[in-house]
Amino acid sequence: MDLLEYQGKELFARHGLAVSRGMTARSVEDAVAAAAGLGFPVVVKAQVLIGGRGKAGGVKLAGSEEELREHAGAILGMSIRGHVVHTLWIERASEIASELYASVLLDRSAKAPLVMFSSEGGIEIEQVAREHPDKLAREHVDYLGGLQREQALEIAAAGGAPEDLREAIADALCCLYEVFCQEEATLTEINPLIITPEREVRALDAKVTLDDNALFRHPENQGYSDLESLDPLERRAREEGVQYVGLDGDIGILGNGAGLVMSTLDVVAQAGGRPANFLDAGGGADAAKIEQAASLILSNPAVKAVLFNIFGGITRCDEVAKGLIAAFESLKPTLPFVVRLDGTNAEQGRELLAEAQLPGVHSAQTMDEAAALVVELARSAENVGSAR
Ligand code: GDP
Ligand code: MN
Repeated sequence: MDLLEYQGKELFARHGLAVSRGMTARSVEDAVAAAAGLGFPVVVKAQVLIGGRGKAGGVKLAGSEEELREHAGAILGMSIRGHVVHTLWIERASEIASELYASVLLDRSAKAPLVMFSSEGGIEIEQVAREHPDKLAREHVDYLGGLQREQALEIAAAGGAPEDLREAIADALCCLYEVFCQEEATLTEINPLIITPEREVRALDAKVTLDDNALFRHPENQGYSDLESLDPLERRAREEGVQYVGLDGDIGILGNGAGLVMSTLDVVAQAGGRPANFLDAGGGADAAKIEQAASLILSNPAVKAVLFNIFGGITRCDEVAKGLIAAFESLKPTLPFVVRLDGTNAEQGRELLAEAQLPGVHSAQTMDEAAALVVELARSAENVGSAR
């Protein structure tokens, strides 16, 4: 789960990392009230789960209420590469002497946390790595030993930290590492970490990704999930506990198991079609879950044909068939379905479907055949105009 900047800063502050005082705002009036409490100048910052907000015009300094109103009004509702701004973070503006970079991330290939630090911050880390490789320190940390102060000092020095601030920067790295471990994050990044003219070190931005699989151990972090910024169908899926990702095509896809669904997307694309979604019904989905999943797929008005690709293991194909029959009873879809059932109880599933004689439901033996058929059905639906 990715956190918004202000949520990441909340975690940073909990672990003793210096951040600026600020407040969230969801309207211009909110923003004015926040700034009244903080004092001008303030920074108005779009809270969206994507970087490069500054360049996109989503981060602005405001020295007066008039400027604040102007910027807050412009940023609220703005779309930053498809991410619509619903929330602002208003914080007391900092004076910046220099911008640094610090991060801790899970390096899966090394099976260890990787700490990175550079005195060249405020630009993308890839650019730092290209243009100032000598000023980018990268060191793995022994997970059991943790990040020791000595190593943190070494990393600070290797990344070009000014002499007088090596201690302070090492402290910041240790705090960041503590956030990473204790909150069970896979990424904690500060860009920029700034030095103020008073030689203070402070996090001006925060990018945090928490490990979803560890979230049950952190009930206090569960409220961070940003349902509002999800596409409405993805949000509904999340609430219903279904793995659904919206795509921009017109063929609805349901499969069981992430691997099978991904290969189904590939095979449909190979057959010349465009998937409308990724939907993994998961292992052992029962009829009710299948009905729910079908309803999600059909709620997308772009869908012209649907492909069920099931390879039964723990999932029983007769349950899938029952779910589809139930979905037809409750939703009465009029668009074509292609169903490929294989594996556990496939025979029974196919028999149930044959008996039910659902209108517009075609069965296919293989995945390739199913993909070719659904693509053809979606095309002819397109030619007819509307399929529902
Ligand atoms: P990003 O563009 O999404 O990474 O957003 P950031 O939070 O990193 O802000 C982008 C840039 O805005 C920073 O690199 C700073 O140069 C600038 N900025 C952000 N906050 C302040 C502030 O309090 N004072 C000043 N002077 N500049 C700021
Ligand atoms: Mn940034």
